[in-house]
Amino acid sequence: MAPNNDNDDDTSLEKYNVDWTGHYRGSSSIVVRPKSTEEVSRILSYCHKRRIGVVPQGGNTGLVGGSVGIGGEVILSLEKMNNIECYGKKDGSVIRADAGCILEELQNYAAKNGNLVPVDLGAKGSCQIGGNVSTNAGGVYYYRYGSLHANVLGLEVVTPTGDVLNLGYDPVSHLKDNTGYHLKHLFIGGEGTLGVVTKVSLRCPPLPVSRGAMWVTCASLSDVVRVLTLARTDHLNEILAAFEFMDRDVLELVRAAYPSIRFPLDIGNVTPATTINNDTIIDPYSILIETHGSDNNHDREKLESFFECIMEEGLVVDGVMAQNLGQIEDFWKIRELCNPATAAMGYVYKYDISLAAIDFDSFIHDMKVRLIDASHDQQKAASSDKNLICGNWGHIIDGNLHCNIVSPNSFERDSELLKIIDEGIFEEVMKRNGSISAEHGLGQYKNEYMTRIKTPSTLRAMYDIKRVFDPHGIMNPGKYLPEPSAESSPE
Ligand SMILES: Cc1cc2nc3c(=O)[nH]c(=O)nc-3n(C[C@H](O)[C@H](O)[C@H](O)COP(=O)(O)OP(=O)(O)OC[C@H]3O[C@@H](n4cnc5c(N)ncnc54)[C@H](O)[C@@H]3O)c2cc1C
Repeated sequence: MAPNNDNDDDTSLEKYNVDWTGHYRGSSSIVVRPKSTEEVSRILSYCHKRRIGVVPQGGNTGLVGGSVGIGGEVILSLEKMNNIECYGKKDGSVIRADAGCILEELQNYAAKNGNLVPVDLGAKGSCQIGGNVSTNAGGVYYYRYGSLHANVLGLEVVTPTGDVLNLGYDPVSHLKDNTGYHLKHLFIGGEGTLGVVTKVSLRCPPLPVSRGAMWVTCASLSDVVRVLTLARTDHLNEILAAFEFMDRDVLELVRAAYPSIRFPLDIGNVTPATTINNDTIIDPYSILIETHGSDNNHDREKLESFFECIMEEGLVVDGVMAQNLGQIEDFWKIRELCNPATAAMGYVYKYDISLAAIDFDSFIHDMKVRLIDASHDQQKAASSDKNLICGNWGHIIDGNLHCNIVSPNSFERDSELLKIIDEGIFEEVMKRNGSISAEHGLGQYKNEYMTRIKTPSTLRAMYDIKRVFDPHGIMNPGKYLPEPSAESSPE
């Protein structure tokens, strides 16, 4: 059907039909792996004419089921399109890459030229830059370097009709360019519903000359927020690059899943206990702070005086500063194990929400109360021991909480429980004017919420945009936008 459809055998389809979570499964029998924009264009034009659904697929690490089919669509994998080149002055400050480049390879390439790719996340070894752009991935340095909307200078995309759009890719758009609608922004975070991103040009800032990090623990989330405020304003300010928090529940899961892992501190030191509905919940918090600057001595002094201040003010229970780059990487390794550790321990009900940092505490508390009630009801109904574990971590500096509810030792999703948790999360997030998807997107999991969070006229505008690019609705069907209702359907 399509050029270079070099599937090896039936079993090779499995990896394209199952995503990272293992939960979302498609039944596609055709995977195409084009090697050039021209091939992407021919494939899409073929499918458009015959109204065949197409799912663009990057590294398949998305967490909302966006990258696998629903009804046996053709999977268009970008994995064979992976060239990288420096652009302009060849100093690596602007790099251009095919959409299928693995993020970590792009980072290594940029680093060789003394630059940094302004997006970094735990899935960097598998996710692709095209997937990052299509999900508008956030990651750990979002606060410092900004979003992909700010850092993508240009894109090349292929629309479902097979047209190739050069959206500031060649020549690469200048940082300032106010000419016409900036269509690239529709594809950043568009989750493959408007077309296929084939090439990306990115602004890459210089690598920091000095990097520092510390790991501290707090007894309460209000202390975490006070540490965050001090770090952001008076103390670390311009050198602050990342501020991640993890709660004890998730770190205990990391320890259980990876018994040989060494923690920077003995996380068991901090033991203030809270009791909710007679169940004891221990709630210490760990924070990983990283700084990026240009002068080692200056940055180290700042970190040390910050550390003294938060100790003196009694905001932290304990802490340690990284002595070298290896220790910084060790700190990050623990943070990056949060996702796989929860997945290793049981079925994970995953949530990725935005809230004001000061609301994290009450949100987590209220969710835990709901979970204890849900667990008790479940136990009564199923006479089984199903204590749910609620592990939390995230980019608190961006107001981004990853709330992960693990059903230990059971890898099956319980759809009744899912409904209860989904609704609980939704209500608690809405009560606090938050967002139900901070960075993972909508996919096939969260698209139905759109009717509850967007007005009919906003949704109508989105359907109109979709129709302009994809009149036959072949791109990633059943994802992102919900089925139109009478109120929101296009005129
Ligand atoms: C361990 C782990 C940690 C993570 N941490 C973070 C994090 O910190 N921040 C964050 O934002 N996300 C995070 N994620 C989620 C995920 O890694 C990101 O969403 C990532 O950007 C997806 O990239 P991908 O190449 O795997 O895309 P896929 O999963 O293959 O696809 C994701 C979506 O993009 C579409 N798509 C992919 N490529 C293209 C293309 N070239 N053109 C058009 N559409 C395309 C797909 O159709 C799908 O809808 C994490 C995931 C894991 C497993």
